[in-house]
Amino acid sequence: MSMSPITLHAKPSANYAEKVSETLDLLQQAVAKFSPVTQASSLGAEDVVITHLINQNSFNIPVFVLETGALHSETLALLERTQAHSKVPVNVYRPSKEKVIAFVKTHGQDAMYQSIDLRKACCQVRKLEPLAEALKGQRAWVTGLRREQSNNRAEVPLIDRTEQVTKGQIKINPLANWTWGDVWHYISENKVDYNPLHDQFFPSIGCAPCTRSITLGEDFRAGRWWWEDEAAKECGLHAKT
Ligand code: SF4
Repeated sequence: MSMSPITLHAKPSANYAEKVSETLDLLQQAVAKFSPVTQASSLGAEDVVITHLINQNSFNIPVFVLETGALHSETLALLERTQAHSKVPVNVYRPSKEKVIAFVKTHGQDAMYQSIDLRKACCQVRKLEPLAEALKGQRAWVTGLRREQSNNRAEVPLIDRTEQVTKGQIKINPLANWTWGDVWHYISENKVDYNPLHDQFFPSIGCAPCTRSITLGEDFRAGRWWWEDEAAKECGLHAKT
């Protein structure tokens, strides 16, 4: 089944315009105070909104994408279109081929379903190591985290300094106050290119083996690591230590 998420979800909050200007202010501040700064994009709905805002306003915030080697073909196609159309650079980081081959050889293609430890080990090789590479030399990174997304994310500050000590970067969450309705309203108003997986009820997009569509009414992040408990579901990119 496929249905436009715009029809289903686009519904701006009463203070939508204020949220957009708050976001723009924050991106401006990010450049002025925290450069070099880069945007982490999974090419999900929130991230395409941020990349669009960056390009529209010519902010000096290059984008990076972690190409884990396990993305959906729809996501890879959107990555290519984004690279072709973005004014700011869209940098792609990939895991070490040797490590991926060794991991699959030892644990098999389906390792992530066998245990949380193996799932985390896979994320370590395919996501966290390339992430560390992407963040090298950066003072801050911009993410699409929103307060509404899940319980673990209930406390999403606009500027998060808690990881500065552990990971070295300030995290900027310019959509922290946006609702899912705001995100789709923006996509609709600005005709932003988005991942067609959203048309098949994928709200949160990750690697193909670890993402499934959710049915209407199911929790937002239910489609990620659905075989695991709620508490374990952050992938480590945004986990607190
Ligand atoms: S999301 Fe799944 S496939 Fe992707 S790196 Fe993590 S465990 Fe591996």
